[in-house]
Amino acid sequence: MTGTAPQHTDVEGVDGGVGLTALLVAAARTIETHRDDSLARDAYAEHFVRAAPACADWPVRIEQVPDGDGDPLWGRFARYFGLRTRVLDDFLLRSVRTGPRQVVLLGAGLDTRALRLNWPSGCTVFEIDRAGVLEFKHRVLTDLAAIPKAKRVAVPADLRTDWVSALTGAGFDLAAPSVWLAEGLLFYLPGPAETHVIDTVDKLTAKGSALAFEAKLEKDLLAYHDSPIYTATREQIGIDLLHLFDKGPRPDSAGALRAKGWSTSMYTPFDFTRRHGHGPLPEPNDALEGNRWVFAHKPRP
Ligand code: SAM
Repeated sequence: MTGTAPQHTDVEGVDGGVGLTALLVAAARTIETHRDDSLARDAYAEHFVRAAPACADWPVRIEQVPDGDGDPLWGRFARYFGLRTRVLDDFLLRSVRTGPRQVVLLGAGLDTRALRLNWPSGCTVFEIDRAGVLEFKHRVLTDLAAIPKAKRVAVPADLRTDWVSALTGAGFDLAAPSVWLAEGLLFYLPGPAETHVIDTVDKLTAKGSALAFEAKLEKDLLAYHDSPIYTATREQIGIDLLHLFDKGPRPDSAGALRAKGWSTSMYTPFDFTRRHGHGPLPEPNDALEGNRWVFAHKPRP
């Protein structure tokens, strides 16, 4: 990676609403990257944060946060994103080792896995998100002359509409196995749109494919107005996550996949905190309590 971060790039599409949440994750990854006990390093994340006017006064090192790890947003929540990044990095690399060479990132946002991870040769990473988010990402990475470690294909699409032709038109091969990721995405979509995404993943995947996604228990999308994490996110950087989450009933996507023959396993983030020795643990009035990470596999014949 070369060059310095561009300042105040136009960020239409990423600078407001759900797009801004991609910058929140990038800021968290920036802080995680520079921790002594970092679980995931993303050298690109800071460049996105510095390029977006909306983040002008966000911290990029834990040392810049007055309460440090005690800060619900830049301490605990950022650590959550660091842990999630590491766990899903591991899932993707483990999955491609079994053969698939196509990776699809649903709601890719400012995910830089195509540039960060050591992919086996012949991998293609398809990044689906709204056009404005992908254009911002492209501008920042182009200014850095960043070189991907896999073939990287941006697929601008709204996942609430028909996105299949955009993906297949971008070169996705229906006959070959694939690995999919929906990280921090599904709870922003209306329930029927989530169901459509999961059904579509099933239709587009050959045997031997895998999918990981993050879900939230339904009750959590209506509760925790005064949880420290959501309150700090709203008050410190003006992102009201509970407002952005879809409030309708959530489908049982893991159950739907099992009914289609997939195997699934489900974990809490706290399971991985215990495994890695770093990350959030349960606390009272905890907005993370209902988060679930689901790993699904479509068996080979
Ligand atoms: N997965 C990325 C990561 O973890 O770094 C980004 C997570 S961010 C919280 C949510 C992303 O989902 C945003 O980039 C947003 O633009 C995208 N997104 C939300 N609704 C979408 C939709 N209907 N179509 C496409 N992308 C969407």
